[in-house]
Amino acid sequence: KTVGQAVGLNPENGEVIDTKNLRVKLVLLGDSGVGKSCIVLRFVRGQFDPTSKVTVGASFLSQTIALQDSTTVKFEIWDTAGQERYAALAPLYYRGAAVAVVVYDITSPESFAKAQYWVKELQKHGSPEIVMALVGNKADLHEKREVQFQDGIDHAEKNGMFFIETSAKTADNINQLFEEIAKRLPRPSPS
Ligand code: GDP
Repeated sequence: KTVGQAVGLNPENGEVIDTKNLRVKLVLLGDSGVGKSCIVLRFVRGQFDPTSKVTVGASFLSQTIALQDSTTVKFEIWDTAGQERYAALAPLYYRGAAVAVVVYDITSPESFAKAQYWVKELQKHGSPEIVMALVGNKADLHEKREVQFQDGIDHAEKNGMFFIETSAKTADNINQLFEEIAKRLPRPSPS
C-alpha cells in the first residue's frame, strides 16, 4: 500500500490519483467574432494573429500552467470554431467540462445579451460544479465601449461567475484569466 501511494496510485483500485497535476476540460462559449479563438491563441502560443484562424472545433488546444503551490493545471480547451449554434445543444461539448468561459465583446451589447443566453444554457446543461467565467474581451477598444464594466460584474456576481475584461490583442489579463480559473478549481483530495 505504501509503495502504491508513493507512486500516486490508489491502493484500493490501482487508479492513478495525482492531485498535484490536474487536467481539466475547458469549453469556450460566446457569439461568433467576440475573440474566442484569439484568446486561445494568445494564451497557448503567445501571439495575436487574426488572419490565421485555427479551427479547433473537432480537436482542441492544450496548455499547462503552474500554480504557486506547485500544482500544475493542464487546460484542454474546446472552441466552437464557428459552430456556436450547434455547440450549445451538443451534450458532448459540455460533457466532462470542469470550466466554461463565456466571452463577449465590450463594444457589442448584442454579444453581451448572447453571453447571458449562454450562461442560462450552461446552467441547464453543464455540470453543477462547473467553474464559470464571464469575459469581456476587446478591452483595448475602450473608445468604442458599449458594455460597462459594472454590467459585466453584476451579471457575473448574480450567476456565481468569475469576471474579467481581457484583450487578446494586447495580451491584457489573458494569463490572469486562466490563473484565476485554476485557483477556483475544486481540488481532488488524496484518498
Ligand atoms: P471568435 O469567432 O469568437 O473565435 O473570434 P476571433 O478570435 O476569430 O476574433 C474575431 C475578430 O475579433 C478578429 O478579427 C480579431 O482580430 C478581433 N479580435 C479578437 N480579439 C480582439 C481584441 O482583444 N481586441 C481587438 N481590438 N480585436 C480583437
